[in-house]
Amino acid sequence: MNTEYSIETKCIQSGWQPKNGEARVLPIYQSTTYKYETSDEMGKLFDLEKEGYFYTRLQNPTNDTVAQKICDLEGGVAAMLTSSGQAANYYAVFNICEVGDHVVLSSTVYGGTFNLLAVTMKKMGIECTIVDPDSDEETLNQAFRENTKCMVAESIANPALVVLDFKKFAKVAHAHGVPLIVDNTFATPINCRPFEYGADIVTHSTTKYMDGHAMCVGGAIVDSGNFDWTQYGDKFHGLTTPDESYHGITYTDKFGKMAYITKATVQLMRDLGSIPSPMNSFLLNIGLETLHLRVPRHCENALRVAQWLESNEKVAWVNYPGLQSNKYYELAQKYMPNGTCGVISFGLKGGRDVSVSFMDHLKLAAIVTHVADARTCVLHPASHTHRQMNDEQLMEAGVQPDLIRFSVGIENVNDIIADIEQALTHI
Ligand SMILES: *Cc1c(COP(=O)(O)O)cnc(C)c1O
Repeated sequence: MNTEYSIETKCIQSGWQPKNGEARVLPIYQSTTYKYETSDEMGKLFDLEKEGYFYTRLQNPTNDTVAQKICDLEGGVAAMLTSSGQAANYYAVFNICEVGDHVVLSSTVYGGTFNLLAVTMKKMGIECTIVDPDSDEETLNQAFRENTKCMVAESIANPALVVLDFKKFAKVAHAHGVPLIVDNTFATPINCRPFEYGADIVTHSTTKYMDGHAMCVGGAIVDSGNFDWTQYGDKFHGLTTPDESYHGITYTDKFGKMAYITKATVQLMRDLGSIPSPMNSFLLNIGLETLHLRVPRHCENALRVAQWLESNEKVAWVNYPGLQSNKYYELAQKYMPNGTCGVISFGLKGGRDVSVSFMDHLKLAAIVTHVADARTCVLHPASHTHRQMNDEQLMEAGVQPDLIRFSVGIENVNDIIADIEQALTHI
C-alpha cells in the first residue's frame, strides 16, 4: 500500500489488494481452517517458522485485511482485530502485564475500561493507580512504581469528553520506560492519530464510528512500532525472553517491530480466543470506507447542536470540546484541529427529573445504550449505565445526575435541533 496516500484514500484503498483476476471486493473467508499439501508444511506454521493461515482463531484473511486498513489509517506497523473494544483493551494491557505488575490509568476512561482494570484485572494480580488526566507532570510522575508496565488513557474520554494532553502523557510514560496506550475510539484516526503525539499503542472499539452503523461489536489494537521493548532489560520479558509455548522463540528477536502484535496474536488470541467473525470484519470494512465522510459531518452537526443548546435558556450547561467556552478547547485545537467527535453532553435547568422527561419527548433521537453511529441517539447515565449509584457517588464518578449524553448523528442538523426544540417545549 502506498503510505503517501491521504487518509481519505486509505479509507477506501487500504487493506484488500486483489491480484489479477481476484474479487474486487474483500471476500468473506468464512472458513475455520486452511488446507495444506504436506504435513511438514503445516508443522512449520505451528512453529512460527513459516507464515500462513491454519486456524481462524489465530488468523483469518478477511480479519487481517481489515486490521491492515486500520493499521494504515493510524500510521502503525502492525494491527489485529478483536471481538470487542473490551477485548482490545484487555489484550493491549495483558500482553505486557502479568501478576505483580502495575498500570497507571486515567480516571476519565470509559466505564468498561475502568472496571476491566480496577476490578477484573486486579483479581488477576495486576494493580492500577488512577490519575486525574489534568494533573501536572509532577503529580503524574508520582503514580509510577518500579513494576509499572504501561499508562492507559483515551484521546477523548467517553462520556466525560476530556481531551488528552498526549504530549504530557507520552513524556511521563516514556520517562518511566513504559509505553502509552491510547484508546482512540471517539476521535478516530480521521481527527487524531495518537502516534504522531507520542502514543505507542492505539486501541479501538470499532463498534462506534468505525463501524458507524451500529451493526457489529468489535475492537482493534495497533502498534506504532516505536517502543523499544529490548531497551529495558527484562522488564517486558514476555516479549524479550524465550516463549516456551513456542519452542523458545523470542518475539523481539524473531519479529522485530512486529513483536508486540505477533505475541498478542499467537499467545493471547490462541489462548483466550476473542476473535471477530469474518462476516463482522467485512461489515466493519464497509463502515471504514465512509469513515472520512461521516466523521466530519458528525462533528459539524455536533458543533451546531452544542451552540444551539448553549444559547437556550432551559439548558443549564453544555460540554463539547469544540465549543470555544469549553475547558478542553485549546487542547482539542492542538491535537484534533479538524474536529473532535459527535458526542456532546448537557444538563437542563431543574435537574435530573427534567432531563429524564425531556428525553422521553424526543422523537428523532432514540434512547439507546449505544453511542457514535449514524443515527442520533441519547442516554441518561444516571438512569442507565450508572443506575446503581446515588447522586453523591455519581458526582464522584464525574457524572452529574442531570447529564444527558447526546450522540449527534449525520441526519440534517436542522431536524435534530427541531427535535430537541419540540422536546424542550414539554418541560
Ligand atoms: C464502547 C467503548 C469501549 C468498549 O468497546 P465494546 O466494543 O463495547 O466492547 C472501549 N472504549 C471506549 C472509548 C468506548 O467508547
